[in-house]
Order: sequence, then structure tokens, then C-alpha cells
Amino acid sequence: MTLRPADSSALLVDGKLIPGSGGTFDIVNPATEEIVGRAADGTAADMDAAIAAARRAFDTTDWSRDHAFRARCLRQLRDALQSHLEELREITIAEVGAPAVLTHGPQLAGPIEDLGYWADLAENYSWEQDLGNATPMGVPTHRRLLREAVGVVGAITPWNFPHQINFAKLGPALAAGNTVVLKPAPDTPWCAALVAAVIAEETEIPAGVVNVVTSTDHALGAQLCSDPRVDLITFTGSTVTGRAVMAAASESLKKVFLELGGKSAFIVLDDADVAGASSYAAFSVTVHAGQGCALCTRLLVPREKYDEAVAAAAQAMAGVRVGDPTDPGTVCGPLISAKQRDRVESYLRLATEEGGTVVTGGGRPRDRDRGFFVEPTLIAGLDNSSRVAQEEIFGPVLVVLPHDGDEDAIRIANDSTYGLSGAVWGTDPDRIEHVVAGVRTGTLGVNGGLWYSADAPFGGYKQSGIGREMGVAGFEEYLETKLVAGPATS
Ligand code: NAD
Repeated sequence: MTLRPADSSALLVDGKLIPGSGGTFDIVNPATEEIVGRAADGTAADMDAAIAAARRAFDTTDWSRDHAFRARCLRQLRDALQSHLEELREITIAEVGAPAVLTHGPQLAGPIEDLGYWADLAENYSWEQDLGNATPMGVPTHRRLLREAVGVVGAITPWNFPHQINFAKLGPALAAGNTVVLKPAPDTPWCAALVAAVIAEETEIPAGVVNVVTSTDHALGAQLCSDPRVDLITFTGSTVTGRAVMAAASESLKKVFLELGGKSAFIVLDDADVAGASSYAAFSVTVHAGQGCALCTRLLVPREKYDEAVAAAAQAMAGVRVGDPTDPGTVCGPLISAKQRDRVESYLRLATEEGGTVVTGGGRPRDRDRGFFVEPTLIAGLDNSSRVAQEEIFGPVLVVLPHDGDEDAIRIANDSTYGLSGAVWGTDPDRIEHVVAGVRTGTLGVNGGLWYSADAPFGGYKQSGIGREMGVAGFEEYLETKLVAGPATS
């Protein structure tokens, strides 16, 4: 099979690759603004058929009970995708605007490799636990704990890291024995459609176990949330949409798993190399043009070293080449769409309206007349109550804020509705541990440590989400617990 033909994209419903009832829609390359393919435009009727197929596959097949078969299918999928890696790389760069360098890691190769981690879990997980004997209300009883798949999973994903997020849901959901309906973002249907084609044509994954419905219509996501045949919603996206997901899912009281936005703080303590840490923080927010929920977009530096930090961060940002994502040297490519660029630019205007200073960047790169590019931008002179410091911008934009010591840094970091990620740089281990304990957030990097890997649970405190993705904790999100009580054993 070749994955190349741009307009072969289809929906995957009940094991078949079928056209969308709504026709097709254009896939735009965000670096060139050219139309590079067409995706199937699914409708409510297509979504209804996908949910019915997932329900049937869960209720009438052995999928949820045959752990070894699921492990085999996941490894097949990994191997098949790896055999298409170069085709997938080209298409991912064209559709997502993802810098090529990232496709060797979290934008493509990493999550495909991680399917092996989920296969191992399907095989090795303790599906049954012996709780031993007890005598509740005087009745001699033996208790067993069974872990079982939740059922039909509705997976709703965004566009910024489509493979990473699609597989962070498909991998554990399938390994745990669920069936899935995946609804990817309208901006990145191609990545999901290609995976659907590989599932249908190159794996033994049974019909109905994975269904993929691409669409321009966000309402299909809402449909998935409210349909009573769906048992669990796993959602990654904005906090605003997360609230709508939770509300819609409440009608049928389904389990909801949410990975949402962030406005994470990068805390530099006064015993750190302030210039070095600030440069690192500034460079980091330019990766994939800042379209990462867990990027640290607030830099908190000691007040007395504020100017030094701003100068170092500005120099680092000004040195980042904004450019062609196919170039292996590019880390900062385009934003996904004109709409996102407009949104980011509105925040750059807001920064000055709020009294801040744009130290470097602030607009579109002069040497790029096509593509949705924005310059890496450093904003100084604002405090943490400004909207620019409180709201998620989702572009290559860093706000530098002064702090007056460790307690103040913790206070500012926590003065946010979000709690997704963060970083601490310093030299005194006790002071670092104090900050680690104080910051209310789901992941924290210390002195450059990176938390991202298949076995490391990721997720948010506060309005950054509910639940954890990845790792055993992420796998168990997709399981129910059944307690079986029988006569006491001797
Ligand atoms: P979004 O919330 O606009 O859309 C996400 C998905 O939800 C899309 O598939 C969309 O079609 C669907 N959707 C829209 N309205 C819906 C509704 N009412 N019911 C159900 N589904 C609906 O997010 P986006 O703009 O695609 O992605 C960017 C956002 O995602 C950012 O806020 C970012 O922080 C967040 N994000 C979070 C994580 C994380 O793990 N915490 C990871 C990546 C992105």
C-alpha cells in the first residue's frame, strides 16, 4: 500500500474505508498556504454509524478479553506504521507544519514506537488481583478484583501534535480492551486518515474496533459526548471546549478524561545561571511555534536580575530561525492556520495595550510572504494579572515577570487558572524541592529535565484537566473495576 495519494483519505467505519457523506474538504499546508490534499467530510450520520460499529465490536466480540491478540494487533500497527515512516513524515510536515526535526520524536516516530509500550502493558498487566478473605457482616467471603475495559471510547483530539495525541489515546484505550471512535481536529484530518488506512489494510484489528471520523463539523465531537452508547470521552483541546465536553457527557454520566490548556511558569531562582536559564526558556517556547500546551510561557526571574534575564531571552529568541518546516534546521515553523495567527497577533497587540513592551519579534517575519508564520516574541514590563500573562496564547510568545524570592515565585506560578506544567532552575536542592512542593501543576522539569515519555503520566491540575495520560496511570483511565465476592477459601 502507498499512503501518498492526497485525496484517498476516507473515514474508517466498521472496518471499511468509506467516503464521507459530506463530500471532502481541503487540507492546507500552513507553511505554503497551498492545498495539499482532501479529507473526507464526515456527517452526523457517519458518526452515528461509527458509534454503532464500536458498540457492536465491544459487545459482540472477544476483543476486550483477548489480551494477547490485542498486544499482537498493536505491534502490527506499530510495525506497519514504521514501514511507512518516510511517507508519514512528509505528510505530517505538510499538514501540521511540524518542523522535520520533531517528526523524529513526539510529532511522529516517538508515539509510533510507544505502541510497543501499550502492547507490553496489554500482555503484562495484572488483570486480576486477589484481595483475600474477609468476613463482612459476619459472612466468610473471598474477594477478587477484576479490571475490565470501560467499553466504547470517544477520542477527540486537537491539531498541534496529532499523532502524539491520537496514539496517546488509541494506544492505552485499545490495550485496555476498549473500542474507539476517533474524531481528529478539522485542521489535521490527514494524519488520522492515514493511520485509519493502515489499520484497515495492514493489521488484524477487527472491524469496528477503531473507527475514524474526520469532519469540518465540530458538532460531531459534541455528538460523541452526548451519545449514550459511548462510555468514556477522552479529550485533548482547549479548556473552553473541555467544559462543553464535560457538560455534554454529563447527560449520560459518562466517564470524562480531559487534557486541556496551560500557562506554565518557568521559575529561575536567584542562585541559578539566570542568563543561561532565561535563554533556554526563550528558545523552548519557539519550538513548533509555541503550539504546545505544556510549554512554559511565563518566565519568572529574580527582580534584581530582570534586565539581565530579558536581554538573554531576547537574544536567544532573535537567534531562532523562523522557517520552512521541511528544513532539518528549523525548530520554529508556521502556526496551523490564518485563524490561529490572527489570534496570536491579537495578543501581541494586547500586550502593548496593557502597557507591556515587545522586546523582540511582535509580528510576521519580513522574509515570509506565504504561510502562517509569527516571529518569536518576548514581552516585558507586565505583571501576572495582565491578560497576556493569564491567557493561553498558543504561539511563540514568552512573558517575563519579576519575582521577589522563592515564595513569591511559587505564588505567581500558582496565580493561574491552569496547572499543566512548569520548570525550576537553581542550585540549592532544598530550595528546589521547596518550589517543587509548592507549585500546583501536573509536571515539572528541574534544571532542564524532560518529563515526556511513554511510561510517565502527564496531565493537569486545576483547569488544565482531569486524569492522566501515558504510563500505567494513563492505561488505568480506560479500565473499570469489578469486585467479585465468593465463599471464603481455606
Ligand atoms: P479545541 O478545543 O478547539 O478543539 C479540540 C477538538 O475538540 C477538535 O477535534 C474539535 O473539533 C473538537 N470540538 C470542538 N468543539 C467541540 C464540542 N463542543 N464538543 C466536543 N468536541 C468539540 O482545541 P484546538 O484549538 O484544536 O487545540 C488547541 C488547544 O488544545 C489548546 O488550548 C491546547 O492547550 C490544548 N492542548 C492540550 C493538550 C494537553 O495535553 N493538555 C495537548 C495539546 C493541546
